[in-house]
Amino acid sequence: LAKSLGGGTWRFFAADMRPRASQTAHLETELRGALSRQEFVLFYQPQVDLRSQKIVGAEALLRWQHPQRGLLAPGSFLGLAEETGLILPINEWVLNEACRQGAAWEAIGLGDLRIAVNMSPIQFRRQGVEGLVKDALRASGMRPTSLELELTEGILLGHDEQIVKQMHVLRSLGVTLSVDDFGTGYSSLSYLRSFPLHRLKIDRSFVQDLGSDPSALAIVRTIIDLGHILNLQVLAEGVETEAQLSLLRLEGCDEVQGYHFSGPLPPDAFVAWVARHGRASSGPSFGATETE
Ligand code: C2E
Ligand code: MG
Ligand code: MG
Ligand code: MG
Repeated sequence: LAKSLGGGTWRFFAADMRPRASQTAHLETELRGALSRQEFVLFYQPQVDLRSQKIVGAEALLRWQHPQRGLLAPGSFLGLAEETGLILPINEWVLNEACRQGAAWEAIGLGDLRIAVNMSPIQFRRQGVEGLVKDALRASGMRPTSLELELTEGILLGHDEQIVKQMHVLRSLGVTLSVDDFGTGYSSLSYLRSFPLHRLKIDRSFVQDLGSDPSALAIVRTIIDLGHILNLQVLAEGVETEAQLSLLRLEGCDEVQGYHFSGPLPPDAFVAWVARHGRASSGPSFGATETE
């Protein structure tokens, strides 16, 4: 495309892109070493049941403790990790680390916590993901029913037989499966029925606009109803305000996650948070808002 715009334009693009390309190459080199240098960490964000007000789960969210640039969120390196295939060993590490942490929390009696792990589409499309999961569960000793895998709508789109088979194997192990960022992909109602799913996670863009945009409320209501008709649990992501929470409660949403409760926390802070707000809580004691 750039070439067809003529020589001058082409040179302009080329000059503009060179530093970018070398920046990317540099990041790729760093990313390759990050696993062996153990620079990745997992943060955990609480998930709360709206009826019982109890913490029912934690989503494991990847962070890169970069030696110069500090703590990096996945948005700044996930794309490159996917392009280069580095996401495979990275996400394998995530899976193992989340199971290890889950088992350790089980052992100290933190409670019946579900640990949710984000799966890369690439990883899930590859054969043998159930082997990775089995290995992680066996090595950690975590109960399979405590593990949840978050898939994207994109993973489900193709109606790939191999993927359906893998999902059934995972389900038979006791692992639960959810659809992340629901409503942002090419949602087709028919695909939902044909997969062994447990939960829909309403994308936070709809939750964000709940109070201000009537169509956002309509979408949220539709997703909740749809989920319930299909016998799925529905979790709303990105809950930041009391007003959003009230609307979600009114609409019959099952679970919530967001800064209103807590942002993603390092493991120690997560344990402290659970101790403060967790099991013992019988009322809406989620006044304090914490973020990273
Ligand atoms: P996600 O799975 O939808 O995770 C939720 C994202 O929303 C997280 O961003 C979280 O920090 C953020 N968030 C949570 N509550 C709120 C809120 O109330 N308001 C707002 N504005 N944001 C909130 P994060 O940690 O930067 O992760 C971004 C995405 O990166 C994740 O979206 C997920 O798709 C991906 N990701 C994270 N960890 C992993 C991983 O281990 N493997 C893979 N393959 N992808 C990951
Ligand atoms: Mg997620
Ligand atoms: Mg999400
Ligand atoms: Mg997302």
